[in-house]
Amino acid sequence: MPTMASKRDYYEVLGVAKDAAADDIKKAYRKQAMACHPDRNPGDQEAEQRFKECAEAFEVLSDDNKRSVYDRHGHAGLNGRGGVHEFNDLGDIFEQFGEMFGFGDIFGGGGGRGGRGGRGRKGASLKTQITLTLLEAAKGCTREIEIDREETCKTCTGTGAKAGSTPDTCSYCGGRGQVVQSQGFFRVQTTCPGCRGSGKVIRDKCAKCRGSGRESKPVKLSVNIPAGVDTGMQLCVRGEGEVGSGGAPNGDLFVEIQVKPHPLFQREGLHLTCHVPITYSQAALGAEIEIPNLDGKQMLTIPPGTQPGEVIRLKRQGMPDPQGGGRGDLRVQVIVDVPRKLTPKQETLLRELAEIEHGNVTPQRKTFFDKLKTFFAGPEDE
Ligand SMILES: [Zn+2]
Ligand SMILES: [Zn+2]
Repeated sequence: MPTMASKRDYYEVLGVAKDAAADDIKKAYRKQAMACHPDRNPGDQEAEQRFKECAEAFEVLSDDNKRSVYDRHGHAGLNGRGGVHEFNDLGDIFEQFGEMFGFGDIFGGGGGRGGRGGRGRKGASLKTQITLTLLEAAKGCTREIEIDREETCKTCTGTGAKAGSTPDTCSYCGGRGQVVQSQGFFRVQTTCPGCRGSGKVIRDKCAKCRGSGRESKPVKLSVNIPAGVDTGMQLCVRGEGEVGSGGAPNGDLFVEIQVKPHPLFQREGLHLTCHVPITYSQAALGAEIEIPNLDGKQMLTIPPGTQPGEVIRLKRQGMPDPQGGGRGDLRVQVIVDVPRKLTPKQETLLRELAEIEHGNVTPQRKTFFDKLKTFFAGPEDE
């Protein structure tokens, strides 16, 4: 280790200015660390020393507190306060900074050195689908679902070995479950082919699970569905996937939602549209009508003079937002129903109405009927 007197300035080590931004310090460290990385310079003591020096400089300069102490008092300021960590072991560096680069394999992450994953492996994720009615989706509900998933074998409690026998340590990887292969300057860590990562080899296999330590079982779960979900959304139920191995966590269960179309409400995001037929006289005179809503039904006032296709918006009566935002609207679209059959009385009254209407055609209609007349008369009359 260099003595204090011979220690280089941290900024100089990373090749950055005294006022360099955090991002530039990180970039500079990455560049330096890659250049003198031991995997690229096997057996080169000087490179290894530089690699440690860079890690130390980065540790100080990437920490605002340590950096300000260093700026004011130099190396002496950090010495003896436990403020600076001299990296004696490369493994420390890999562990501390490997993740920052997002290439764990090059920096030896993934289990062997850093011990992050151990030899365990997270259980596989499972996927299932449920179908809800629109009303269930609107209110939220609890659903019982049944899935088949791999669980720890009860017979051998997951060891895979026959009762009374114990698995042997894998001779290929020495029980680590991982083997390291060098490819150029990359060091690639892979799951041991001898034991498939478990670190153990089973001679007397459990009859129930044939040594896998797992068995597929039907499981019933109850899943809470938040209000407002829509087709295509996925719920993640943590830890309800397949069992992890070697103490690693279970996988997750993803529940894909399907919402059945509703005969009365069409959904568009959080808004619902409902088509409500009314008669010509209701449209013209106004009416109180009964309409369906998510809670059942309610009365709605149709104002006089309502036009076919007009939309009456009922604020915040649509679907709730599953993320907790506001509610959508219920849009009531008015359909003016033309009767296919009339009672004699209806017909009499309508004919009377027609007579008045045709005698008092409004200007707008006149234009339309004029156009129509021209249309029927044909071009030769013009
Ligand atoms: Zn078993
Ligand atoms: Zn092995």
